[in-house]
Amino acid sequence: VLKGYARYTGLNSEQITVTRGADEGIELLIRAFCTPGKDSVLVCPPTYGMYAISANTFNVGVHKVPLNPDFSVNTTEVCAQTNTVSVVFLCSPNNPTGTLVEQADIEAIAQAYQNKAIVVLDEAYIEFSAAKSQTALLAKYDNLVILRTLSKGFALAGIRCGFVLSSPAIKQVLLKVIAPYPIPDPVAQIATQALNEEGLQIMHARVNALSNELSVLSEQLTHIDEIELVGNQCGNFVLFKSPRNPDLM
Ligand SMILES: *Cc1c(COP(=O)(O)O)cnc(C)c1O
Repeated sequence: VLKGYARYTGLNSEQITVTRGADEGIELLIRAFCTPGKDSVLVCPPTYGMYAISANTFNVGVHKVPLNPDFSVNTTEVCAQTNTVSVVFLCSPNNPTGTLVEQADIEAIAQAYQNKAIVVLDEAYIEFSAAKSQTALLAKYDNLVILRTLSKGFALAGIRCGFVLSSPAIKQVLLKVIAPYPIPDPVAQIATQALNEEGLQIMHARVNALSNELSVLSEQLTHIDEIELVGNQCGNFVLFKSPRNPDLM
């Protein structure tokens, strides 16, 4: 699995930790880098709920810096918290807004937190995005961590297989907190198959088909008066506002 993912991402095995889904990656990062009852993580809502849920589970605080009205990251405010938080979670494409985090923002934040805290970029939906993964930034910022998964673009949520991409030093820390044998052999076999040449072709074909469906759906939704699309569609989902919200539930 490690070899397959190294080939897929162009990284080497020392930069990759295989986990039971990206959710386990979130949990491991919190356990490895936060002291319960003392430290906090930073999240930028609206965003993926598990960062705060995992932090709560481990008695770690959650500091919220809401996204700007256009759903961009409030980088100034995030960078102002370097002495208060131990892990920063960014999500790109962001669940649920479908927006990307600008590379300049990621770099400014990773830079500001250098030698102070870990900056996590959750790329669970990156396969659906026309934008490339930010893996090249790993060489530049040793406090940057990227989360990936086979659950979304690879449609393998049921096997529970994710990846933490990081510096070799961070991988060594994560290996101290992860269970000794995290990946069952059947999972490894399915994942390895998904990452071979044919598996990648199947994934790309599915991602293309879903992206086409998403364009059709978004276009059709714009014709409905009471629906206002918001954010972007860099993931495999749309977010919209509607005054008829209660009827749609
Ligand atoms: C689905 C999702 C994950 C977790 O996926 P796993 O199934 O645990 O690999 C992580 N981050 C985001 C933003 C997600 O939407």
